[in-house]
Amino acid sequence: MARYTGPVCKLCRREGQKLFLKGQKCYTEKCPVERRAYPPGQHGPAQARRRKQSDYALQLREKQKVKRIYGLPEKQFRTLFERATKVPGITGENLIVSLETRLDNIVFRMGFAQSRAQARQLVRHRHVEVNGRIVDIPSYHVKPGDEIAIKPKSRDIVPVQQALEARTRPPLLDWLALDEKARVGRMVRQPTRADIPLAAQEQLIVELYSK
Ligand code: SF4
Repeated sequence: MARYTGPVCKLCRREGQKLFLKGQKCYTEKCPVERRAYPPGQHGPAQARRRKQSDYALQLREKQKVKRIYGLPEKQFRTLFERATKVPGITGENLIVSLETRLDNIVFRMGFAQSRAQARQLVRHRHVEVNGRIVDIPSYHVKPGDEIAIKPKSRDIVPVQQALEARTRPPLLDWLALDEKARVGRMVRQPTRADIPLAAQEQLIVELYSK
């Protein structure tokens, strides 16, 4: 399936919560999730009135939510899940850790971009280096000790500057280090699920895909 290019606020409304897909704008603009607290579409209000959701619906919504937060198409998300089942440990936790260690997510977490979509664009447009070499693959998996930098020529481009100066920038996670002035960061250690601030029940995703 092709990457979703429609209005992202619709995705938040579908999940019934703010997914912060527009970065800084989510704090400064009027958020549609607050203004219209029901799913998008003609039958949205009726869906919101419906009483209990089935187990399947809960599992599906959780999977869609995580997929949308990280901006992945179904096929890529499923592939990551399959890989997570083959790694020792708890599958759900493995999945979240592998989503979190993608290069586009690390660029976002370091504060070089205001959203994961913007981070993906920085990577795709060859502004990002890993250990001194340009990497333009957003799904590249960052390993502990890797140095992530904005390439010298792009250090002062407007999106990076704006992202680093944003008032609503989330604090740097303790498994990452950052030299903001030099636009260089490092993954200090491999994160565990407990280190990742993501409000999701990954067990529901495992249950969905294990059917
Ligand atoms: Fe989601 Fe941000 Fe749009 Fe609100 S403004 S619906 S949080 S993308």
